[in-house]
Amino acid sequence: MRPLIGTSTKMNLTSSEAGSYFDALLPRLVGATGCDLFVLPPFTSIWVARERLSGSPIAWGGQDVHPAESGAHTGDVSAAMLVDLGCTYVEVGHSERRRGYGETDGLVAAKVAQILQHGMTPILCVGEPRKEAPEAAIDYVLGQVARGLAHVRPSDLARVVIAYEPVWAIGLGSVTAPPDHVAAVHRAVRRWLNRTGTDGGGIVTAPRVIYGGSVDGTTADELLGADAVDGLFVGRAALDPVQFEVIVGAGQRRAAGSRLKEAPTSTSAHG
Ligand code: PGA
Repeated sequence: MRPLIGTSTKMNLTSSEAGSYFDALLPRLVGATGCDLFVLPPFTSIWVARERLSGSPIAWGGQDVHPAESGAHTGDVSAAMLVDLGCTYVEVGHSERRRGYGETDGLVAAKVAQILQHGMTPILCVGEPRKEAPEAAIDYVLGQVARGLAHVRPSDLARVVIAYEPVWAIGLGSVTAPPDHVAAVHRAVRRWLNRTGTDGGGIVTAPRVIYGGSVDGTTADELLGADAVDGLFVGRAALDPVQFEVIVGAGQRRAAGSRLKEAPTSTSAHG
């Protein structure tokens, strides 16, 4: 599976700054053909992403969306508005929104359904609030996944991305979760998705489960090497285009590694 690597710039960069950021990023990432890439700027800079990144391998999207089609929702942005600006990804359920706006799994589920209905890819963020043993984290996370995907048909599950972001590993002063903890949770999410998404015939493409939380250039390789980790969701580190390039480089190495594993060698083919 191609690694999926992206960033949300959260509430950083004005539109002018975002323009310079994309201009710095593009030449650094344009050769990263082994990965799928995305950036999620604030709503006010999505038009800048469209202007600078159209025709490039970097996709863009929103950090949130309202679950309704349109109407009297002051300050909100609809899925149709995001599609109109060329968005292909939309993040939902980030812990900062769950904490700051009391977003419930029910609301998150309605947003996921709305995003799928408009043909975009939801990135559903889940993660346990406090550091605990993998078994407890798995229980918590699978509950969030099940409730967040409550309105998704099994046949549509492959269109969803799950971002495992342990809340205790996000933000200034935090460190990444240990790779064995990440692998245990990712394996459990993947098992759940495979079980739920079979719809009789089995899922053709497994949904990707990506990790986020204090990822930087020094941890990217190890995290991408952890079992069942299909990509990375980067915050602070990606605000520096040089760091983001290093992280995407880890994705490229991982992609090259899987190609080697997949390709049968001539010696094995002929015994
Ligand atoms: P961080 O943010 O990399 O700054 O910890 C991660 C996230 O919230 O996705």
